[in-house]
Parts: sequence; structure tokens; C-alpha cells
Amino acid sequence: MLQKKFDEIVKTHFPNAMDAKDTSIHYLGKMQLEHGIDVSKALMATSVCSDDINVPSTTFFNVLFGPFVMGGLGGIPFVGQTGMTAFAHHIPDDGSAFFFYGPHIGVTSDGELGKMYRPGQENKGNSCGALMLALSRFQDGSYKPVLHDDDYQQMKLEQSLISQREDIINSENPQKAITEATYEIIDKKIHEYIKTCKSEFPVDKVALLGGIIINTDPGTDDYFDARNFEIIDINTL
Ligand SMILES: [Zn+2]
Repeated sequence: MLQKKFDEIVKTHFPNAMDAKDTSIHYLGKMQLEHGIDVSKALMATSVCSDDINVPSTTFFNVLFGPFVMGGLGGIPFVGQTGMTAFAHHIPDDGSAFFFYGPHIGVTSDGELGKMYRPGQENKGNSCGALMLALSRFQDGSYKPVLHDDDYQQMKLEQSLISQREDIINSENPQKAITEATYEIIDKKIHEYIKTCKSEFPVDKVALLGGIIINTDPGTDDYFDARNFEIIDINTL
């Protein structure tokens, strides 16, 4: 019953979202059948937020090798070009590469975005915590994130988003807007790093699936709103 309720709620905000299990079946099938990628030899890299709540969403792909974890707070691929190079070097012989990436956002059964009930907790909390923290700081027009060693990822995440501060806080749903903006940043970075590290890849094609993970209540499946499914020919970059 609750799953059906979430199905309706999630689709009011993200009409094209599919539950995590359907997502993995759908896209692994496409890779194998439409693009001739042998998924039994695919190494997965993820660039999703460190948050423990995202582990079940990525384990739906656990028929693949990996994951190589690229993402830090917010899902930004903080491992950079060195991480991308290492990932490329770990691809199985005659294998393939698959990237699963994007930010996450919680939703409650009341339809509130940016919040969720976590396993073992009675009260609802923020999701994504890093993005909702950035959003609360962005309410202050004079706020400027300053990079420092002891909070590097959060400050870097906020710096990446601050140029869009006005648009985000004035949008109809700021929680959704900051999540959408973060998706664009992650998508751009992943593409950049594949391009700058292209000579490191021992394969011709890499598969990408990017989108937004939508976290629901404990015991119900998470959802994924796919924004980009793409097979990149490394040789044409
Ligand atoms: Zn998060």
C-alpha cells in the first residue's frame, strides 16, 4: 500500500521516475540487448552522495563489478581525474565501463521534498543533508563558502552552486531546484573527466546513466529519475 502511495507522490514531482529495481533491469537490458555491452564484464563507477541511504539504490546494480566510488557529499565526483584514471585501469579484460551518477532527494508520504524518515529514526530529517544545509546557508545573501581542509567537500559543493543562489532560493521548490542544479554539475564533471582521461580507457565504449535518486520511507523502494542514458564512443571524444 505504502509503495503504491509513494509511486503516486514521486510521480507528481518526477513523472518519469521508475523504482530502483525496474531502473536496473531496464538499463542493464538496454546495454546488453541494444548496445552489445557484456554486462557480466562491466565495472561500475558511482558518483552519488556518501549518505548511507543511497547504498540500497546502488546495490540494485550488484550484478556488476564494483562499484568504484567516485562521489562525495552531494554526489560530486571528488576523486577527480586520478580517480577516473584508476577506474579506467580496473576495467576487466575485454570488459566494459558503466557510470551511475546523480544527487538524491528525500520525499515523505505527505509529499514533502528534501525530507525523509530514516531507518530507526522516529522524526524526519533532511535528504540530501549536504544540499539542504547549503540551501539553508544560501538564505543569507551575504554568505560566502570558503574552502578549508576540514570541510573541503561541503565548501566545494557550495562554491559550485553559489552562482545559482538567486535562481535556487526563488524557485517554486528550492529543495528540488538545488538538487537539479547539482545534477547538472555532476553530469558535467563526469563528462569532463571521461574526456580528459580518455586515453586511459582500454575499451571503446562506456555507458552512462545519470539522474536523481528519490529516497522514500524505510521498507519501500527508492526511485530514480533518469536524465541521461548514453553510450559514449571513447574514440570520438
Ligand atoms: Zn546526500
